Order: sequence, then C-alpha cells, then structure tokens
Amino acid sequence: MENLSSPLKKNENDKVLDATLRPKKWKEYVGQENVKRNLKIIIKAALQRKEPCCEHLLLYGQSGLGKTTLAYLIAKEMQSDIKIVSAPSLQKIGDLAAILTNLSLGDVLFVDEIHRLSRSCEEIIYPVLEEFRLNLIIGKGPMARTIDINIPRFTFVGATTKMSLLSAPLRNRFGGTFQLEYYLQKDIEEIIKQSASLLDIKIDQEAIKVLAKCARFTPRVANRLLKRARDFAQVEEDGIISKETAEKTLEILKIDKVGLETEDRKILKTIIEKFNGGPVGIQSLAAATLEDQDTILDVYEPYLMQLGFLKRTPQGRMVTKAAYEHMGMKTLFS
Ligand code: ADP
Repeated sequence: MENLSSPLKKNENDKVLDATLRPKKWKEYVGQENVKRNLKIIIKAALQRKEPCCEHLLLYGQSGLGKTTLAYLIAKEMQSDIKIVSAPSLQKIGDLAAILTNLSLGDVLFVDEIHRLSRSCEEIIYPVLEEFRLNLIIGKGPMARTIDINIPRFTFVGATTKMSLLSAPLRNRFGGTFQLEYYLQKDIEEIIKQSASLLDIKIDQEAIKVLAKCARFTPRVANRLLKRARDFAQVEEDGIISKETAEKTLEILKIDKVGLETEDRKILKTIIEKFNGGPVGIQSLAAATLEDQDTILDVYEPYLMQLGFLKRTPQGRMVTKAAYEHMGMKTLFS
C-alpha cells in the first residue's frame, strides 16, 4: 500500500518512483545548468580523446537533488555500464575489493554517501583512483603477503550530502567537484510537468504551481507530492489534479503553503517557545524536539535556512523575524 506519511521521509516506493521518473537524456534533466555544462565538456573531451573513462567526479548536495540521476547520465553519455553502491555497505576491504575486481573497462562506479566510507576502504581506494592498482594484504603476521591487482580503467563518481565529512586526501582524488543547488520554482514546475506526462497524470497548470511551491526546491519531493495528489484525485475526485485537489492533498499531508511539515514547524516552535528564539545548540534542540540530531541537520535545517527562517550563529541556531511571522507568533523583533 502507498505510504501516506511525510513526503520527506524515504520509503521503499521511492526507489521505484525514482527509477521510473529518472531523466534518460540531458534535455530531460532540468536546471543545474552550470553543472550540466561542465560535465558535458568533461565527457566530450574524454570521448574525443577516445579514452574509456573520464575524470573521477564528486557530486554533492542535499538528498533528492539529482546526484544519482547525473551518474546515470554520465554513464549513458560515456556509453558505459554503471554499478551503484552505497558506502555504508562497504565496511570491509573485501566488500570493496569484490566490486573493484568485477569492474569492466570504462564502467562508471557510483558510490553514494561517500562520506560514510570506512577508513580501511578509503585507504585502499587511493591507489585505485590514481593508478588503477589495488594493493591488498592477505593473511596476518609473518604469513602476510601483499598482492597487487590491476583494475580496468573506470570512472569513479562519488556523491555526498556532507562535503565537510570527506577527508582532504579523498576529496583531492576527484578531478571535478560539483555542487547541486536547490532548484528554482520554475524548474520544479517543469519537473512536475515532465513527471506528470511520464506517469500519464492529468494536472492543471495552477495545481503544478501549488505543488511546486511546497516541494522544498527538490525534485524527489516534487515527484512524491505529485504522486500523492494523483492518489487523492483518483480516490476522492475525478482523477484530474486541479488547484483545489493539490491544496487538499497538501492539507491532509499537513504541509503548509511554503512546504513546511509538522516536524519543521515543531522545530521553529520549540526554538521560539522554549529557547526564546535562540541561539540554541543542536544537541539541546534535538533533545527538546525528540528528533534525531542528524535528521535535523540533514533534512529540516537546510530547507528552513533556505527559506530564511533559521540561521546559524557561532552560539547556535536562531529563528528569524520571517519565521515568527510565518508561525503567526509574537515577534521579539521590532
Ligand atoms: P539524489 O541522488 O541526489 O538523492 P536522485 O538522482 O535519486 O537524487 O533524484 C531523485 C529523483 O528526482 C529522480 O528519480 C528524478 O526523477 C528526479 N530528478 C532529480 N533531478 C532531476 C532533474 N534535474 N530533472 C528532472 N528530474 C530530476
């Protein structure tokens, strides 16, 4: 059954939805013009030189902004196969070695959440990235011996939401580093329109605008909202997503006009009521809201900051005048 909980939280259906809606051509990949332009040049240059792979690339930005999609596009343009793996699943050297030794010439290896790569894996990957050589130590003590395996040349694409957690040596191994920005409202509208057409959903232009405004400037959230609105239109109405259907969908999801969910509002309310508007440290905020610290940092805070409702100061988080106004709470600001 479709999960009707927060469109922010990841669920199993996302994987299927992401795969269905993933752009297959550059022109379907909306926005991020500068990143696209740079990547196209890097790829074209490698193809013109008849190289089997291009420079190793690092993509960073919030979840759902299109990093995995870009990796697929890079592979497609390079006429390569892509292997996808998440860094937390590579805890042991053997896990990584198995993947590396199974690569074919020119493959793209996409490693998501690269900031969570274990220290031991990180160390063995340096010579692989530089010289395509895997040095392994087999056995222990006096019996230990090293083996040196040649790995076919491949393109390494790393993705992270937390650039600051990446070690400098790892960061330096990438030939190109690209930050994905939050999308403009018009780009999110375009993405909703494109997804609606792919899923054969009928939706009014006004409804697209309403959903886009609440999509946290993020394609994945936009696609989820579209799907929820489709369900609502199908079950409660005539199947077409009108402006009213979009608004009702947001209402039952408890998403307000600027895309804030219950948890976002709880964070603002807590800072205002319990901490007098801040500053408050992240640990105290997590304790007071009963939210996980990482979730606040990765999911709620970036969007609240993007909206200008929250700011970071050396003393901690503070809400802004705009946040008081949005929450309809008495402001301390004159
Ligand atoms: P990330 O890897 O950054 O978490 P994904 O690449 O998985 O994000 O993107 C999530 C979904 O959002 C994809 O399935 C795709 O449908 C959509 N998407 C992401 N970026 C774009 C874009 N620029 N244009 C159109 N759709 C996009």
